[in-house]
This record gives sequence, C-alpha cells and structure tokens, in this order.
Amino acid sequence: MKKIGRVELTSNSPFAVQSTCMYSAQLLDHFQNPRNTGDLSDPDAAAQIENPACGDVLRLTLKTSGNRVSQAAFKAKGCVPSIACGSALTELVLGKTLDQARGLTREDVIAGVGSLPQASNHAAQLAIDVLNAALNQLKR
Ligand SMILES: [Zn+2]
Repeated sequence: MKKIGRVELTSNSPFAVQSTCMYSAQLLDHFQNPRNTGDLSDPDAAAQIENPACGDVLRLTLKTSGNRVSQAAFKAKGCVPSIACGSALTELVLGKTLDQARGLTREDVIAGVGSLPQASNHAAQLAIDVLNAALNQLKR
C-alpha cells in the first residue's frame, strides 16, 4: 500500500470540523442548545417575521411585568445563524426594561452569538426586526 505523503487527519474528534467552521463556538452552542424555545401561552406580544432572502422564519413571544420583559420565547425555522440569533435574542431581552429592549441593535445580537460571518448578517437583522415588531405591540 502506498503511503500518502502529508495528508493526515489531525484529530478523530467528531467536532474537529467545527474548529474550522465559519461559525463561532458561541453561535454553534446557541444553535445546538437553543435557549427559551417555544411559544409563551397568553403572551403580551407576539410577532413573526419571514426573511424572503433565505426563507428564515422567526417568531418571538414576550411577557412583561411592570416595565420589564419577564419572559421571552422564540421559534425559528431557517439557517443555523437564524436559530442561534433567535436564541441569543431571548437572552438579550430577558430582564430588560422595554426602553432597553428597544435600544438593542443588530450588533448586540451579533455579540450574543460571539460573531457572525458577513454573509449571515441577515440573521441578526431578522432577530432585531422581530423584536421591534413585538415591542411595537406593547404600550410605552
Ligand atoms: Zn438565513
């Protein structure tokens, strides 16, 4: 059998692929272990937005207590970054006042997933869009 010069696998770990993956470890963690999934029953606000670019659908339900977001849950259908951004979004808004939640930006969502490839910016935008759609249903 002929030996193949320098081609060798550096690791047998099934996770080896992820180290060279375009997504950050934090993003993959949100994707693999999404936080606050589902639909809140009897929410104070519920919004669903579809991104026509790649067909991602993100749904967000919120419950408020006083002037704060007391519960948040999301459902997503779409690419890996969209699901990760939905998960990060729920962590970002939980416990925030409505004004603080209104002040969240795409950059906050990106920071929540560690980093985001340029080509996946739509996922963070979708998260902010669905957040604003939900917040718009709440009185100031
Ligand atoms: Zn997408």
